[in-house]
Amino acid sequence: MGMATIKPRDELSPVIPYPLGPPPEIMQKQLGFSRIIRMGDNENPYGASPLALEAAKNELGAVSCYPDGTYSRIYTALSGFHGLPESHFIVGNGSDEVIRLLTRAFISHGDEAVMASCTFPRYKTNVLIEGGVPVEVPLADGVHDLEGMMDRFCGRTKMVFVCNPNNPTSTIVDKEKLARFITDVPKNIMVVIDEAYVEYVTPDAMNDAKPILEKHPNVVILRTFSKIHGLAGLRIGYGMMAPEIAGELRKVKDVFNVNRAGAAAAVASLADTAFIEASADNNRIEREYVANRLAGMGFTVLPSEANFLFVLLTESALAVEASLASKGIFVKGISAPGYPNALRVALGCREENDAFLEAIRTFAAEGVV
Ligand SMILES: *Cc1c(COP(=O)(O)O)cnc(C)c1O
Repeated sequence: MGMATIKPRDELSPVIPYPLGPPPEIMQKQLGFSRIIRMGDNENPYGASPLALEAAKNELGAVSCYPDGTYSRIYTALSGFHGLPESHFIVGNGSDEVIRLLTRAFISHGDEAVMASCTFPRYKTNVLIEGGVPVEVPLADGVHDLEGMMDRFCGRTKMVFVCNPNNPTSTIVDKEKLARFITDVPKNIMVVIDEAYVEYVTPDAMNDAKPILEKHPNVVILRTFSKIHGLAGLRIGYGMMAPEIAGELRKVKDVFNVNRAGAAAAVASLADTAFIEASADNNRIEREYVANRLAGMGFTVLPSEANFLFVLLTESALAVEASLASKGIFVKGISAPGYPNALRVALGCREENDAFLEAIRTFAAEGVV
């Protein structure tokens, strides 16, 4: 076969495809385990709302028909849930897609986007794809350094990303500091606040979305059905924003970007507050339990407001990840600026957490603490 000589866009040369190892399901087969423990992707260990699953199943008879491209049922549901007009919402194939729509519509060549140096990697990737310049600011004690980020604003700054709680460090920014930051950011800079884990945060520790959006037309808030709603496999998320911004995203979005099953499940899940509350309550109990046990073994764990813990190691995060995987326990080894060796561990149910704690204990004894 000859070498491909078709030149890709120059912008793609620094872009790295998202690193994906063999999926846990395949590893399970290869290792011959009867079950595996998924603590690597921040999924809901309690599954999804039974009402959401029923709604998704009911769509299967209609799979030969395109979804409703106006997505009227989900927009009505979101509007009712948040108390904002439907014109403020955009649904996406996961909130990952909404990030891409934002950069597609608003980042031109040379525009700068400020973000943390240890955060969700999709911001950087999507900014690079558009020829934009990611400006990465170190975290301060595992938390977004809002002042440091503001110090990097210049005439080319177009966007700033605040992942709150931050993936992978699990921390939130102080509520008042973020409110002040939002007020101080010049109105020609878009503030993208990614709230993928908001439902797990201690009540009242975050600012409400609605008043912020009503007061600040440059703010975009991202939410997802992949985390506490347990619908990661159906791919649906959304953004809330001023109608003028939403209107631009509609120009660049695919027509049928969300599938039937995902849209129907999302509507049902929004209404199932009992499932969401139980998931959040269980997570709070397990978060405290696992964090305390890890601290007892000598590990440093950052204060988590999410459904995962960020565990600092002195060495060998990837080796620990691989060793746990060989036992059927999947966590994510992290090597990021400021955090060369850490584990991101999604909280499971009690039995899964105990299996993880048992497995990690051997490493505590070996001195990676
Ligand atoms: C998981 C996650 C998302 C989005 O996930 P989707 O499945 O694409 O909705 C967005 N932001 C952060 C910080 C996440 O952790």
